[in-house]
Amino acid sequence: MRDKLTKIAKDLPATVPFVGPETQERENNYKFLARIGANESVFGPSKKVQDAIKIAVTSTWQYGDPENFDLIDALASFYSLKRENFVVGEGIDGLLGYLVRLFVEPGEQVVTSLGAYPTFNYHVVGFGGKLSLVPYKNFHEDLYGLIKEAKKVKAKILYLSNPDNPMGTFHQKRDVQKFIDEVPDDTLLCLDEAYSDFVDQDQLPELDTSRSNVIRFRTFSKAYGLAGLRVGYAIGNSTLISSFNKVRNHFGVNKIGQIAALAALEDQEYLQKTLIAVEESKIRIKSIFSKMGFSSLESHTNFVAINMGKDSNYAKNILTELIKNKIFVRMPGVTPLNSFIRVSAGQEEDLRYLEKAMAEIMRKN
Ligand SMILES: *Cc1c(COP(=O)(O)O)cnc(C)c1O
Repeated sequence: MRDKLTKIAKDLPATVPFVGPETQERENNYKFLARIGANESVFGPSKKVQDAIKIAVTSTWQYGDPENFDLIDALASFYSLKRENFVVGEGIDGLLGYLVRLFVEPGEQVVTSLGAYPTFNYHVVGFGGKLSLVPYKNFHEDLYGLIKEAKKVKAKILYLSNPDNPMGTFHQKRDVQKFIDEVPDDTLLCLDEAYSDFVDQDQLPELDTSRSNVIRFRTFSKAYGLAGLRVGYAIGNSTLISSFNKVRNHFGVNKIGQIAALAALEDQEYLQKTLIAVEESKIRIKSIFSKMGFSSLESHTNFVAINMGKDSNYAKNILTELIKNKIFVRMPGVTPLNSFIRVSAGQEEDLRYLEKAMAEIMRKN
């Protein structure tokens, strides 16, 4: 049947954008001591969320609500917007796939940054889109360069992650607002705000749902600690949002995910505690590395990008050594970002393992 694949599928490599820590554990025949590489929340979901999940367990024989009604209702009141401004999906990752499917014809251009979130690119090539990649500037996504490229190639979608992954950098409200105003009318701005919970909310651009060419993505995976349940959402103009009902997988968000996300949104007190724990952890990570002479970028996320000070081979070598020492971390994939390694916030115990492993590695290097 291989020759029966679509032209697009035939030419695609079979890949996973992120090799999971589980794969590495299987290959190495050990368990990681510290899992601080995928920007998950080691602080986990709140006790209230855990209790809601326990109660929900007995109803798993039911399909979830295909309209995600209760969760969308809660999101609408949380943001003081209308229900029509939200679509809930199986994580931002799932929604990005629908977005590309809705807007990109084979051969059409899409603009993103070179080294930005790979799952978006994965969907673009999966639907036959063509990627135009704009280099980072001073470890920030280059707002001006992105707009220029989007105009030049007449991009169908322009992707920006703010705060950014993998560097953790952030563009201030004023600059993003200006950026949004400059996006061409025929280009859809995909603003990935997976890390929006980690910055002051008044530093984010206004949620203006009157614009039909801006869509924003948020998730319960990072700050709310529900990565394994797969719940994310998009916020946008109601016409744009309703188009997701043409293609989305109606039972893609599972029942437990719906219930847990709702309980998580209602427990803002716990979110605040998590944010404090993340800040403390980032300070600790920075200090572990600064004592060894490494600087880090200012982080607006739940991870820290640490400059290993030399070339990518050196950073890669340290990363490999950390993995050997059973510390799961990751690093950016392209030059010049790949002289950094990326460490997610951890519990004190995780960071003690990290510190010990780094001390041993530096003794040898
Ligand atoms: C983690 C991450 C996502 C994935 O979010 P899910 O809701 O878990 O799919 C999307 N975008 C960026 C930039 C991320 O870092």
